[in-house]
Amino acid sequence: MPASFSGSPTTHTLGFPRIGSSRALKWSLEGYWRSAGTDDDRQRLKQDAAAVRAEARHWHGEAGIDRPATGDFSFYDGLADLSLLFGQAPARFGDLPNDLDALFALARGRETATETVAPLAMTKWFDTNYHFLVPELDADRPFRLDAGRYLAQVEEALAENPAAKPVLVGPMTFLWLARGASAKTRLARAPALAEIYSALLAQLAKAGVEWVQIDEPVLGLDLPPEWLAAFDPVYHRLKTPGIRLLLATYFAPLAGRVGVLAGLPVDGIHVDLTTTVDIDALVDRLPAFKVVSAGVLDGRSIWRADLGGLLDRLEPLFQRLGDRLWLAPSCSLLHLPIDAAVEDQLPPVLAENLSFARQKLEELSLLARGLADGRVAIGEAIDAAKAARRRLDEQEGRVRGDRREAVARLTVDEPARASAYPERARVQRETLGLPRFPTTTIGSFPQTDEIRAARRAWRRGELDTSSYETRMQDEIATVIRAQESIGLDVLVHGEPERNDMVEYFGEQLDGFAFTRGGWVQSYGSRCVKPPIIWGDVARPKPMTVRWSAHAQSLTDRPVKGMLTGPVTVLSWSFVRDDLSREQVAYQLAAALRDEVIDLAAAGIPAIQVDEPAFREGLPLRRDRWGEYLDWAVRAFRLATAVAPDATQIHTHMCYSEFNDIIESIAALDADVITIETTRSNMKLLDAFADFDYPNEIGPGVWDIHSPMVPTTEAILERLELALAKVPADRLWVNPDCGLKTRGWPEVTTALEHLVEAAARLRGAHPGD
Ligand code: GLN
Ligand code: ZN
Repeated sequence: MPASFSGSPTTHTLGFPRIGSSRALKWSLEGYWRSAGTDDDRQRLKQDAAAVRAEARHWHGEAGIDRPATGDFSFYDGLADLSLLFGQAPARFGDLPNDLDALFALARGRETATETVAPLAMTKWFDTNYHFLVPELDADRPFRLDAGRYLAQVEEALAENPAAKPVLVGPMTFLWLARGASAKTRLARAPALAEIYSALLAQLAKAGVEWVQIDEPVLGLDLPPEWLAAFDPVYHRLKTPGIRLLLATYFAPLAGRVGVLAGLPVDGIHVDLTTTVDIDALVDRLPAFKVVSAGVLDGRSIWRADLGGLLDRLEPLFQRLGDRLWLAPSCSLLHLPIDAAVEDQLPPVLAENLSFARQKLEELSLLARGLADGRVAIGEAIDAAKAARRRLDEQEGRVRGDRREAVARLTVDEPARASAYPERARVQRETLGLPRFPTTTIGSFPQTDEIRAARRAWRRGELDTSSYETRMQDEIATVIRAQESIGLDVLVHGEPERNDMVEYFGEQLDGFAFTRGGWVQSYGSRCVKPPIIWGDVARPKPMTVRWSAHAQSLTDRPVKGMLTGPVTVLSWSFVRDDLSREQVAYQLAAALRDEVIDLAAAGIPAIQVDEPAFREGLPLRRDRWGEYLDWAVRAFRLATAVAPDATQIHTHMCYSEFNDIIESIAALDADVITIETTRSNMKLLDAFADFDYPNEIGPGVWDIHSPMVPTTEAILERLELALAKVPADRLWVNPDCGLKTRGWPEVTTALEHLVEAAARLRGAHPGD
C-alpha cells in the first residue's frame, strides 16, 4: 500500500432491520392495534420503537461503524412514511397529518360505522421479499413537507453519533413506484418534488447532518429514456448547501447506467458490488473528489463473508481511491435476520458460517481495518472465515455425488411428458370422468384454531405423533366429506398438516436447516422465517403420499395431490452461495419428481405443483429474463414430466401477471393451471386468450382474500367472462387461492355457490 494512504475507508450502512430482536416491534405494534389507542398506548409503542433503534445504534457503535444509517426506521413501511412526509396521503383519507395513526390508516385502511377506506396497495420491493406500500399520487395534490417525525428520528441518532447518515428513498424511485397518475404525469411532478426534498435537506443541514444517502434502486430497472434523462435536472434541484449526497443504487448491475451516474451532481455513489462486476468503469469517469461506496458485503446473504477474497477485490480500489472509498453492505440489511449468535440449536458447522445483520457490521469493520492496516491486522479473522467455510464444505451432505449425478442425468435432455397435451387430455378425460367445467379448490382448507393447537402441542412434545397423525387424518376425512357434500369434482386433502407450504417440505428434505430466530420483515408487523438450504437436496422418503392416499381412500372422486414447486421453495428460502440457483432448483425438482412418481404409484390421479413465486424470481433487468425462465421452466418440467399421461398435472400461481411470461407458462406444460383472476375481473385471462394458451385453465372466480361470500350470480358472471376467453372444454371452476385463512361457514357457502354456478354454466353451454 503506498504510504500516501493514511486513514481508512469510511464504513456505513444503508439501513438496518427495524423489527427488533425477538421481533419486539411486531409484538408492540400488534398490541397497539388491539388497544384502545390511548395516549398511553401510543407512548408505550413509541418507547418500544425507541428501544429497537437504540439497540441498532448500539450494535453499530460496538462494531465501530463510522456512519450508521438513520431515518430508515419505520413503524410500518418507509414508502408510506414518505407519502406522509410529502403530504401525499390519497384524498379518500381526508387531510392526514404526518403521525402514527395516519401511517396505520394508510397501511391498514380505515373502517368506521359509515365508511370503509381502502389501504394503500402493497407490492414487492424490487426482487426482495419485502413488501412496501405503494404511494398514490394524483395530478394536482401539492407536495407539502411535514418533516417532524423524520427529523426527530435523525436528531435522536445525531445526539449519539454526529456522523450518522440519514437515509431517504429518492424522488425518482418514489415517483416511479407510485400509482394513481400516469407515468408521464408523475414524471412531470419531479421538479416540484425535488424542491421538497431540497427543503428537507436544508432542515437536515440545520440539524447538523453532513451526508445524506438517497436511494435510487429504480436505476436497476429498464427505465424509459425520459426517466433516465430526468435524473440530472432533478438532482441539480436537490443540491442543498451544507449537505453532501450519496446516491445509492443496488440489486442490479450498473450496466448502461454509468454515464447517467458519473455525471450527476452528487458527492458520492454507492454501488452494489454483488451485482456489478466492473466498478472501474464508474471510477474511471468519476470526478476525483467524489466518494465511491463499495457495497461489498451481500446485504441479502446470510453467509459469512470470505474476507480474504473480498480484500482481493477491495485493495486495488483502495489504491485508486484512498479515503474516497467507503465500505458498506450492498443494500439495507432489512432483508436479513438480526443476529446469528442466537442460533444455538443449529449444527455448529452451520451456525459458525452464518452472518446476519449484526455479523455484517463486524465483517464490515474488519474489512476496513484490513485495508487501513494491511491484511495481517485481520489475519486471524481471514483465516477463521476460511477455516469455517472449509468445515462447511467438508460437512457430510454438503456435496453428494449421487445427487449431483442424478441431476446431471435428468437434465441431459429436456424433460417432457410421454405424450403431448391433447393425447394426455384424452386419456385423463377417460380415467377421471369429469364433467364439463370441472370444479376444484387450490389445496388448503380452513386452518382452524384446533388444528394449529394440535400442531403446536405435537411440536412441543405434548401430543405424541400417532395421536397427532390421527387428528390430521380425521381432519382430512372431514374435508373430504365436506367437499363431497358440496359436490366438488376434484377433491383435495386440505393441507391440515402443513404450517407453511415451503417449511413443510424443507423439514422433510435433506439439505435444509431451520433457524430459531431468523425472522425477516415481510411487511408491517409480518415476518417470515425462511429455511436455509445449505446442502445438496435429497428426499429420504415420501413426504405427502400417506396423506393423499388416505384422502383418496375415503372417496370415489379423484383426489389431487399437493406439492410446492421447486422455484417457489427456492424463492422463499435462504439459498447456499456455493452452487447456482439453477442447480439448487434442479435438485429440488429431482426430489419432487420422486414424490410425483410415488403419488402416481399410490393411485393419486391428479397432482398440483404450486408455483406462486414463479414470477417473483424474474431478474430486474429484462435482458436477464430469458436465462431465468429457461431454468425455472426446466425445473418445473423436471419435477412433473415423469407423471404418466393419465396423471393430471396442475399448477397454481397467484399475485401474478402473465402477459410478458405467457410463453414460459405454456412451456411448463401443466395440464391445468389455476390462477388468481377475480380482482382483475378476469382481465388477467387476456394473456392466455391472446396467446391461445393450449392447455386447461381455472381462472379464480372467488377472491379468497376478502371475507365476502360471492353470490352464485357473481360467480356465473365471471365464468361467462372467462368463457369468452377460454374454450369451453378447457375451462375449470375454482377459487383464486387456498382457503386456509378463511372460516368454515364462509367456505362452505362460497363453494356451494361455486358448484351451483358451474352447474348453471353447464346448463347454458351444454356442449356436444
Ligand atoms: N396449495 C396452497 C394452498 O392452497 C397454495 C398456496 C398459494 O398459492 N400461495 O394453500
Ligand atoms: Zn395462490
